[in-house]
Amino acid sequence: MAKQLAFYYDQSVCTGCKACQVACKDDNDLSSGIIWRRVVEINGGDWIKQGATWGQNIFTYHLSLSCNHCEEGICLEVCPTGAMHKREDGVVLIDEDKCIGCRYCEWACPYEAPQYNDDKGKMSKCDFCYNYIDEGLPPACVAACPMRALDFGELSELQAKYGLVDNIYPMPDPSLTKPAIVITPHADAALAGAEGVSIGNVEEI
Ligand code: SF4
Ligand code: SF4
Repeated sequence: MAKQLAFYYDQSVCTGCKACQVACKDDNDLSSGIIWRRVVEINGGDWIKQGATWGQNIFTYHLSLSCNHCEEGICLEVCPTGAMHKREDGVVLIDEDKCIGCRYCEWACPYEAPQYNDDKGKMSKCDFCYNYIDEGLPPACVAACPMRALDFGELSELQAKYGLVDNIYPMPDPSLTKPAIVITPHADAALAGAEGVSIGNVEEI
């Protein structure tokens, strides 16, 4: 079986502090407007009638997401130059020398992972901190999380240990690209396509 590195995310302990997002931005020296890892805030619930009174079942949870280094990344299919490529360990990278900035991958990716770097005229995205993992170190986001909510490893091993959840709202249908991510869901987490939940920090992400 081909190797496929993956992120693990324990949503049940994530506090939404965004240390992962900040560490990614800082470590990769990302310019304003470019976010390779983003923390989405999701809200749901409503007033509910309880006998003669009204109560509520309101909830909030978070979703920390980057490029998922998908097993069947659509970005790889649409890139006309081969700039978007997959390493032997499954990590999806952009070869800047080959990228012509056409932005096809940005339009195609259902996770909105590739982001255009205006200064360079090239696409950019999470590279799994390959420079760190090649030295046996964790990616910056994993190292920064104070709750140890993030981890990484071989996809099949993570799935065997934690199960197969890869479709928490607002993620798209995982059959589109087979994302290499394994999630332990928050107790209130809604699955992809759910109704009655919404994103609370649209301006931030
Ligand atoms: S650093 Fe950890 S706890 Fe904070 S938002 Fe990211 S995953 Fe959640
Ligand atoms: S998340 Fe998007 S950019 Fe990343 S591998 Fe999947 S399809 Fe490609």
